Amino acid sequence: MIVCKFGGSSLSCRESIERVAEIVRSNDARRFVVVSAMGRASPKEEKITDLLIKAYNGDEIAREEVRFRHEKLCRELSLPSITDELDRIDEAFKKGCGFDYFVSRGEYLMAKIISGLLGMPFIDGTEIAAFSDEGRWLIKETFVKATENLKKYDCGVIAGFYGEDGFGRVRLFDRGGSDISGAVAAYALDADLYENWTDVSGFLMADPRIVDDPAPIRHLTYGELRELSYIGAQVLHEGTIFPVREKNIPLNIRNTNEPEHPGTT
Ligand code: ASP
Repeated sequence: MIVCKFGGSSLSCRESIERVAEIVRSNDARRFVVVSAMGRASPKEEKITDLLIKAYNGDEIAREEVRFRHEKLCRELSLPSITDELDRIDEAFKKGCGFDYFVSRGEYLMAKIISGLLGMPFIDGTEIAAFSDEGRWLIKETFVKATENLKKYDCGVIAGFYGEDGFGRVRLFDRGGSDISGAVAAYALDADLYENWTDVSGFLMADPRIVDDPAPIRHLTYGELRELSYIGAQVLHEGTIFPVREKNIPLNIRNTNEPEHPGTT
C-alpha cells in the first residue's frame, strides 16, 4: 500500500488537481492521500496558507480571496458547493478562534475537496498528530494516535499540517509540515512506500539556478536526505525522514507535472 502526499504546487487549480486524481487512480495501491492547502497557480497568486495568515491578521481582501478561490475550484471540478464550510470558518473567526485553527483550514478544505473528488473518506489532521499543550509536536504520542485512528480506514484523504493538543485545540507543524503528516501516516499504516509529490523530479546533483541542466539523483540514503533538507534543499521538510526511517519505508520524491519520471528514492 502506498501513502501519497501532494503539496500545494500540485493542488493549485483544476488542471493540476485533475492530474493528481489521475495519478491516484492509476495505481490501486495508492489508498491514502495526504494534502497541503491550495498553492498558487501563477506567480501573481498567493498560497492559501499565506492568505489565511493575512486574513487572521484582519486583511478582509485576503479572506475574500480564500473564499473565492475555493468556491471557484469546487464549481470547476463540478463538486458540491463548499460555502457552508467557509461560513463555518468565518463564524469561528468572529468568535475568536485560535490562529492555528484558522490557518489549518487550508489543508482542511483541500482534504474535503479531494475526498469528494476521489470518493474517499475525509480524515482530519487531528486524528493523526499529537501536540503538547504548549504546541510542541509529540512524536511518540503521534505514532500511537495515528496508528490507532488509521486502523478504522481502508482508504482516505488526510488533511496535512496540523494535529491537536491535550485540550483538543488544533496545532500546526511549522511551514511545509504536511510532508511530516504524510510520513506519519506511512509509518502508522506500515506503508510499502511513501510518495511525496511536488513540482520537481526529486533531487538534482546541483542547484539548477547555478548549473545548467544538472543530472537527477536516483537514490539517496535517509542520512543524506536529512542533511540536504537540513541545509535548505527545500524539496522536503527535514522532519519527514524520522518516521519513515523508523520502519525502513522507502520515500520517493516525484513530480506531478512529470509523473513518468522516477524521481529520487
Ligand atoms: N500549507 C502549509 C505551508 O504552506 C503546509 C504545507 O504545505 O506543508 O507551509
